[in-house]
Amino acid sequence: MTDAETMPPALSVVVPCYNEEAVLDTLEARLAAVCAAQFGDSYEILLVNDGSRDRTWNVICALAERNPRVVGLDLSRNHGHQLAVTAGLHLSRGDLVLIIDADLQDPPELLSRMVARIAEGYDVVYGKRTHRHGESAFKRGTASLFYKLLNRLADHEIPLDTGDFRLMTRRVVDQLNAMPEHFRFIRGMVSWIGFNQTAIEYERDPRLAGETHYPLYRMIRLALDAITSFSTLPLRIASHLGVFMGVVGFGLLVWALASWLADGTMAGWTSMIAVMLIMGSLQLIILGVFGDYLGRLYIENKRRPLFILREVRGQSRVPTPPDA
Ligand code: UDP
Ligand code: MG
Repeated sequence: MTDAETMPPALSVVVPCYNEEAVLDTLEARLAAVCAAQFGDSYEILLVNDGSRDRTWNVICALAERNPRVVGLDLSRNHGHQLAVTAGLHLSRGDLVLIIDADLQDPPELLSRMVARIAEGYDVVYGKRTHRHGESAFKRGTASLFYKLLNRLADHEIPLDTGDFRLMTRRVVDQLNAMPEHFRFIRGMVSWIGFNQTAIEYERDPRLAGETHYPLYRMIRLALDAITSFSTLPLRIASHLGVFMGVVGFGLLVWALASWLADGTMAGWTSMIAVMLIMGSLQLIILGVFGDYLGRLYIENKRRPLFILREVRGQSRVPTPPDA
């Protein structure tokens, strides 16, 4: 291996890929073109296969064979989008790192504008979506609601309408890699890290092929990860609710006593059952919230590795034996 090959490249591109066989050739071509225009030979493209069920890994291997700047990472199973990105970030070596989705919803051609902002002294340049073509009104609506809620709850600002499409300097990536948590919400973690961050606006294209891997339940899971990772407010809500219910209960008591004094009757069974049901369900919900945090604490505490690699392919990397 020559010196040039062991030197870190100027740019690493991290691409999480889950069942993306149809888009990878186009992605590689477009990415390689913009990277070469910007940095010549000094870049690498890390394609992370996140336990795909189609021929994604074969396509990645073929690309790594053809383009010496392509590195293929094969995860042992499906780890999920955020951990696939995490794996890529851990193995990236570039002075700058770009995270981009495989489906070309985020145009690679924005790289030069992002690099220009970094040159102005920023450490993070994230893409902010002004339009989302080909996404349903429902997805846009829920996404916007989610960011509003998150910013209400989180202790620090998480920018609206951004994804993980972003260019970061090495010191930010090193900080990210030093954060051990399993429940990762990368865009929130990056904003937590700080330094100087800025946005560039762009229109989000529809998926090139295939379909979204974020159906509603996965979006809800990501949203819960985000909220519990960045806020402990839900834990404190219990005491606020307790005080509130106490005040309401006392008011009801005064009212009941007053009506008894006034006409000697004491109405009650229905309202008592209603109050009991409300209290019971409130307590269960609060227990559930506590349980959620506790479960996360338990999983974090196991300190398992964030991801498991099956294989690394790429002419610039030492290959791992298939059964390592
Ligand atoms: N992805 C992944 N693992 C998963 C799900 C998705 O690596 O379990 C990748 C996927 O290949 C894509 C990116 O994460 O590159 C974003 O996923 P998708 O485009 O489905 O989400 P959307 O853009 O609809 O939010
Ligand atoms: Mg997408």
